[in-house]
Amino acid sequence: MSLGKAKRTANKEKRRELREQQTPEQEVLKDKKLIREEVTRRLVSGLHTTNLEYDSLYNDEKASLNKDADLLKLLFQRMFFYRLNEKLTGLTCDHTFRLSEQILTQMQFSRGKMNEIIEVFKKNGGHCDCEVIYNVESQLIGK
Ligand SMILES: [Zn+2]
Repeated sequence: MSLGKAKRTANKEKRRELREQQTPEQEVLKDKKLIREEVTRRLVSGLHTTNLEYDSLYNDEKASLNKDADLLKLLFQRMFFYRLNEKLTGLTCDHTFRLSEQILTQMQFSRGKMNEIIEVFKKNGGHCDCEVIYNVESQLIGK
């Protein structure tokens, strides 16, 4: 490696460090297309690259009271509830987990894991797609 290149790499490293030191609230995406890309990235690969306004809705203190907090937090961070809300908008819930299952499939969960997640929803009062939003997501967000 040439000296010049090593220096550039070091600078790049430094910038990355600075970025990581920033508090999460500092930057949120505003651009609709970029928001969409971030949502899909998190859903499919779980990769969190930028902050979304939605992230600030999460109430860790409240959510951690739930026995299934770890799983529900993961689903929140991977934008499961966000996407379910989107899908339900303008639809009438048919009282199944049709949309939830579509999303969980997109998230590449195995059938076994999906069943486990659905059981957690039921245990928390979510017996269909709309109830997952009303009764489960509501345990993680807000006051
Ligand atoms: Zn419903």
